[in-house]
Amino acid sequence: MKITDILNTKNMSLSFEVFPPKKETSFDSVKAATEAIAGYRPSFMSVTYGAGGGTSRYTLDIAKNIKDSFGVPTLAHLTCVSSSKETVHEQINALREAGIKNIMALRGDLTPELEKTDRSKWDYQYAVQLIRELREYGDEFCIGAACYPEIHPESKNQKEDIIHLKEKVNAGADFLTTQMVFDNNLFFNFMYKLREAGVTVPVIPGIMPITNAVQVDRAIKLSGSFMPQRFKSLVDYFGQDPDSMKQAGIAYATDQIIDLYANGITNVHVYSMNKPDVAKAIMDNLSDILGKDFDR
Ligand code: FAD
Repeated sequence: MKITDILNTKNMSLSFEVFPPKKETSFDSVKAATEAIAGYRPSFMSVTYGAGGGTSRYTLDIAKNIKDSFGVPTLAHLTCVSSSKETVHEQINALREAGIKNIMALRGDLTPELEKTDRSKWDYQYAVQLIRELREYGDEFCIGAACYPEIHPESKNQKEDIIHLKEKVNAGADFLTTQMVFDNNLFFNFMYKLREAGVTVPVIPGIMPITNAVQVDRAIKLSGSFMPQRFKSLVDYFGQDPDSMKQAGIAYATDQIIDLYANGITNVHVYSMNKPDVAKAIMDNLSDILGKDFDR
């Protein structure tokens, strides 16, 4: 099933993101965690891609397993910046053979090692090039792309960022998923600017349930996302007590999701980070809200 078939209905959807194991020894535990999350029957699941080799080969294994064993549609992430065309096309062919119809086409982060190399020799500079190549397969793939309500860190300003985002949509991206946001108003403002710029594809807000204090610093460093005072107070107060912090973080994320649904945003993506207990708690919190209209 294509993700756009889920996004383009009026029903609510809730999807979860998982990441592949970093080493072979953790494959079984990661597989078990992703299977447990798939068992809650989210609308779809996305599987991230470890740029530059490493975990990349496991993305397909995890995505295929979820799709084939649980019937949950999967979205396999694919990055291009640190790869040759040959490697990227090997990955694309492997995804085709595995029957994966949804690809999140990304550039990937620029590592310090990569930045020391000659940029003009890279096969891929930006995600738009990967999107164009995926579109050469016609409608075989449903293509997702990343977007940044608080601006991508390399962009000079939001206007420029949105111009490049529009290039990705014009090249064939069917939908967009945002970097994690902790303040829904930033997402609503962003949506206004996107629609004003003529970007009309579905945009899925990314919500990250923060369940321990250590995760806060990591999440900010990774995403550059703004932490509202309401959230900071919660971490200050509950951060030292793991159980309380987890409950408070799940409640905060649930509240954000309800606010999004209540404002007509029907599709929400949760960065569930291979945590079945967190995924289950969020699904339970929303059980009546998702109810019969839930798009599975
Ligand atoms: P791009 O769209 O190429 O944009 C990167 C920067 O270049 C932006 O500042 C953009 O404005 C600018 N730009 C784009 N086109 C041009 C142009 N023609 N000329 C000049 N500037 C241009 N990383 C992983 O390694 N694995 C993952 O699985 C993964 N999943 C992600 C999922 C989501 C939803 C998000 C939001 C991010 C994810 N990332 C992942 C991180 C992502 O790889 C980084 O944020 C990366 O730095 C940018 O990727 P992109 O696809 O947005 O790049």
